Amino acid sequence: MNNLPPVQPDVAETQPGHILIVDDQEVLRFLLRRELAALGYTVDEAPDGHTALRMLRQRKFDLVLLDIMMPDLDGMQVLHQIKHDPDLRDLSVIVVSADTDLDHIVTCIRNGADDYVFKPYNIILLNARINASLERKRLHDRERRYQRELERIVAERTADLERSQAALRVSEERYALAARGANDGLWDWNIAAGTIYFSPRWKEMLGYAEDEIGDTPNEWFDRIHPDDRELFEVRLMAHFRRLLSNFQHEYRILHRDGSYRWMLCRGLAIWNDRGQAVRIAGSQTDITDRKKAEQQLQHDALHDSLTGLPNRVLFTDRLERAIVRLRREPDRHFAVLFLDLDRFKVINDSLGHEVGDQLLIAAAVRLQESVRPSDTVARLGGDEFTVLLEPIEHEQQAEQVAERIQQALSAPLYLQGHTIVISSSIGIAYSSNGYVQASVLIRDADTAMYHAKLRGKACYVRFDPSMHTAALAKLQLEQDLRLALEHNEFRLFYQPIVLLRTGAIVGFEALIRWQHPQRGLLSPSEFLPLAEEAGLIVPITWWVLEEACSQMQRWREQIPTEPGLSISVNLPGRVFTQPELIERLRHVLDQTGLPPQYLKLEITEHTFIEFGSLTNNLLAGIRNLGIELCIDDFGTGYSSLSYLHTFPVNVLKIDRSFVSRLGEKSGQGDIVQTIIQLARNLNMEVVAEGIETPEQFEQLKQLACSHGQGWLFAPALSEAEAQALICTIKA
Ligand code: C2E
Ligand code: MG
Ligand code: MG
Repeated sequence: MNNLPPVQPDVAETQPGHILIVDDQEVLRFLLRRELAALGYTVDEAPDGHTALRMLRQRKFDLVLLDIMMPDLDGMQVLHQIKHDPDLRDLSVIVVSADTDLDHIVTCIRNGADDYVFKPYNIILLNARINASLERKRLHDRERRYQRELERIVAERTADLERSQAALRVSEERYALAARGANDGLWDWNIAAGTIYFSPRWKEMLGYAEDEIGDTPNEWFDRIHPDDRELFEVRLMAHFRRLLSNFQHEYRILHRDGSYRWMLCRGLAIWNDRGQAVRIAGSQTDITDRKKAEQQLQHDALHDSLTGLPNRVLFTDRLERAIVRLRREPDRHFAVLFLDLDRFKVINDSLGHEVGDQLLIAAAVRLQESVRPSDTVARLGGDEFTVLLEPIEHEQQAEQVAERIQQALSAPLYLQGHTIVISSSIGIAYSSNGYVQASVLIRDADTAMYHAKLRGKACYVRFDPSMHTAALAKLQLEQDLRLALEHNEFRLFYQPIVLLRTGAIVGFEALIRWQHPQRGLLSPSEFLPLAEEAGLIVPITWWVLEEACSQMQRWREQIPTEPGLSISVNLPGRVFTQPELIERLRHVLDQTGLPPQYLKLEITEHTFIEFGSLTNNLLAGIRNLGIELCIDDFGTGYSSLSYLHTFPVNVLKIDRSFVSRLGEKSGQGDIVQTIIQLARNLNMEVVAEGIETPEQFEQLKQLACSHGQGWLFAPALSEAEAQALICTIKA
């Protein structure tokens, strides 16, 4: 009650009061009115009951002095009406009666009269009675007002409370709903008491029923992954000390099934006035799926999708770490192997990508089986792999691993019905060269691998700095080569092809040279492989074709011979398979005016094998133009002699290697003889390449080889020299 607002005092409290005298005796009214007015009361009078009731309803009175004995409506009835009128019933009524009406007085009191006085009255006594009655009424009024005020406040508070309870209920429901919807487990830790409430969902998330997990902190903390527990506690303590505004942590917790689940835990503490955390409550969400997705994404970003091996990014990262470690621990040496599968492209193109993919996967497995778990095997792309060997005791150790890898990879593979044997070329770079950049180390290992390829593949080569110099030179050469066509630096040389029986010149093979501005005249072996790599072989070949055809046509016109001389041009595989090949050949012939039968295209046996089934159609297309076809370097590709007849080929050129060994071993003669006989049976010309000695010449003539080419007759001649030679034919 003491927090109730003070009640405004009623006007009646400050004034003596307003009194109505109801009496049928006029004199009595007059006297009484005078006396009461003298005491300070405001007084009105009514001569009968009806008037009294009317006046009471019109004006506000504090007290009625009511005579009981009145004609018409007596005091008893007036009292009855007052007490049954809601507007009047609080009015104080003092009944006035003669001694004889005692029964009436009792009835009046019962009916609500406040007091009574007997006639004739003593004014002092009456005043005291009036005062007491008015005071009672005031008290009563005040109490009523307090009561009303109290009721109003209680009602207001109740409404407030109901509103906030409703709001609380709504927010609780909302939270419960959200928690249920979010699949959150809830927890509430009373730190002082050392107990934790875990919601059923919290327990369910760990695979337990409601009654299977108690209420101690250990039920929780003992299940946290050992690697995550420390950080969990550090974060929690930081929040308790208010260093973190809230507790939020992702960690792993042991599930009943023995697996660890990732959880996101959030909580908020409550502190006492001494700043100690006394309670903390929060939620826990299972984020295992998100974590797995994240880990998968991270894994994908760092691994090769085909083999599952680390990719270049991860490999580079590991290598950088190794470089940094070496600075701290100067004895912790390492090596990088750069590995490339030999002839992978051929397998991939001929047996299909599916076989190619399986081959790469198998290679990845074998690679990994050949190294220690601490080593890193990565796939950089295509058929290129790298291995980081760390640590190594000595450099030979890396070479031993390279040998082991090559051996493991060389075991036959059985893929989709094919037996495949692969070899690999490996370059090795050592940390002892003082590398600071991973990319440089990988580049050097790559350079060494390139040298392994140059040395005939299936071997390993350790990097030495001169290789890098060579690589730079190669890069420079490539730049120069791109400009060579534009700068008109290529030259054609012409090597005569002779009829062995008579020694007569029947034609020339056009052989390219590069007049390099600084390095002088370069032979094809010095730049053609590079042109091939750099994609320049196609434009170069078309230049050669145009140049050779127009030169031959000029000679034919200027220095006619009988029979006409032919020109042989080498056609590399890359050009051979160009879609517009036939069109362009026709165009060259049209432009230069050379009759097609005087053009011979030399295609190596390797190209024939490489393009397999494609070959026949392409060859037929060329033959249809009237151009003749030669198989170049025959014998080096080990193609089966038996299917030679399936190709529409006119000339077979026996590789120089067979010719050069003709004198040495008896066996070589047999092979050459077989080839010659076969060619003759198939109605083909045979040209023996690289005839250097009279003995070779003699032997070939005896074997009935029709044509020859070689230094014995003439080397590749410049244009002027060739022209001079042609002039001697004519003469
Ligand atoms: P190839 O087509 O087999 O050319 C024959 C090669 O043997 C030529 O070397 C020629 O100079 C050389 N040679 C000729 N007689 C003898 C001999 O008695 N002894 C020795 N040791 N060698 C002899 P070259 O000019 O260095 O050409 C090498 C290869 O380069 C050619 O082999 C051919 O495959 C390629 N090549 C040359 N010119 C061109 C060209 O214009 N375009 C294309 N695509 N390739 C060419
Ligand atoms: Mg040739
Ligand atoms: Mg040849």
